[in-house]
Amino acid sequence: MSNQLTAGNVTILPVSDTGIGGSPAYMFPQVSAEQWEPYRHWMNERGNFRMNIGTYVLRSGGRTMLVDTGLGDKPRAGYPQGALLANLAAAGIMPDDVDIVLCTHLHIDHVGWNTVRKGDAWVPAFPRARYIIARTEWEYWTAPERAATIDYVQDSVLPLADTGQLDLVEETHRVTSEITLVPAPGHTPAHVCVAIVSGGERAMIIGDMAHHPVQLTETEWSVAFDLDPRQAAVTRAALVEQMERDGSLVLGGHFPFPGLGRLVRLGERRSWQAL
Ligand SMILES: [Zn+2]
Repeated sequence: MSNQLTAGNVTILPVSDTGIGGSPAYMFPQVSAEQWEPYRHWMNERGNFRMNIGTYVLRSGGRTMLVDTGLGDKPRAGYPQGALLANLAAAGIMPDDVDIVLCTHLHIDHVGWNTVRKGDAWVPAFPRARYIIARTEWEYWTAPERAATIDYVQDSVLPLADTGQLDLVEETHRVTSEITLVPAPGHTPAHVCVAIVSGGERAMIIGDMAHHPVQLTETEWSVAFDLDPRQAAVTRAALVEQMERDGSLVLGGHFPFPGLGRLVRLGERRSWQAL
């Protein structure tokens, strides 16, 4: 069974890179066990989540686009190695087929397959693609004093600079007539979501605006690695309200795979429900 869905004329295919465990206590240190009680159904018997890391493949106006590139297969202490290229190939998508690579932000689990090793160099994994990144996000992570201390920025972000394939854009950039970036700061300085509007239908790839479905109900719950937790909560509340009003599909890349769902109302409570 395919996980592919459509929003108007845009096709959307989630493809996983790898999975990773998530611990409520580590991710949400400010949330008590008691507050978690209504959400036990999201946890396994050990009280942890299973999180996905991967990409969404969009086809719009004859172009093939990836939203985020996962963790990659470069050895990283404490992280699994991903298999996104193999999983894309299994879905019939080869590196040369990709026209656009968009990163919602520049964290380790969203840029991993931006590059691959060729001899002594890191080169774009998608040789024909334009790489689209918000300019403010790029400038934050590639600032010399910061980049110098972060291995993944050196191997999966900075090498894009001299390729001629990098497009640094505003956070409201229109990628195609059907796909637009939506500013969603807080998790990182210039994190963006990706809005798909086509044929009267809407979908939103939310990136790390939320890591877990429960955050779409409890919009105040920011994760420990939101750089500005207060701003992240403000952003989340506003976008959740907007998506509910618009009847938008809500696509969560870290939600249990494939992360395709919508917002539903159960009394006063708004919840994310898988399709
Ligand atoms: Zn992430």
